[in-house]
Amino acid sequence: MMTQVADGVWVRQSAWVWTNSIVVRGEERLILVDPGIDGSELNRLADDLDRLGIPVVAGFSTHPHWDHLLWHARFGDVPRYATAAGADVAGEARERAQAMAAESASGIPLELIALVTPLPAAGGPVPGEIVEHQAHAVGHAAVLLADRGALLAGDMLSDVLIPLLDARRRDQVGAYETALDRLGEAARDVEVVVPGHGAVAEGPEVAARVAADRAYIDALRRGEDPVDARLGPDAKWLSGPHQSNLEQARGRLEHLRLRE
Ligand SMILES: [Zn+2]
Repeated sequence: MMTQVADGVWVRQSAWVWTNSIVVRGEERLILVDPGIDGSELNRLADDLDRLGIPVVAGFSTHPHWDHLLWHARFGDVPRYATAAGADVAGEARERAQAMAAESASGIPLELIALVTPLPAAGGPVPGEIVEHQAHAVGHAAVLLADRGALLAGDMLSDVLIPLLDARRRDQVGAYETALDRLGEAARDVEVVVPGHGAVAEGPEVAARVAADRAYIDALRRGEDPVDARLGPDAKWLSGPHQSNLEQARGRLEHLRLRE
């Protein structure tokens, strides 16, 4: 069920919002990035890892949202990392993340949620380069594996999810612009982008993903309602987050809260 998408990079997709669990081979060891989602899927991922026969040495969480903070005992009692800011927020948000996980999927080992620590400055066992930014979530990280031609994008550059602005933070439009500049630069050197949710992008699709997120954010900046293929008739569930993006971009969020 795992697909190898680049040298030493495997992806297994969950039925829950097309969430991608990513397995990266480091120096003869594996690093698990954002494994998910429900208990049976985590179990099957552990089966896949058994078949690879390479031990897991660490986990990495791209950002402190519950669906990116999961773990299973079968992956081993190994350090799980995030950016320093991400680890901070994950600690504070642990109970809420557990409640959301319990509500959203079955069989998730709740006691293992959000147990992440700051990544050592030199990157520790996580290969490649961490591209940290503040779009979507505090301390959000992409992992650039330049030698494998792959970028693990976290909740950016998806073909199914529009940019989802962090509703609790100011100037997410600016944060997305900065993040997309950096990810756009990183994406120039890769053949493959693995988003947190949705299909893996390959070849020309890589630049198209960056362009789609950029076009959405550019429209918000202009105060316009973005025209975006991801907001099609099959994605009615995105209309709430989309409206919230529009409101934040127009600086009306505070005003609307006061009126409620
Ligand atoms: Zn996510």
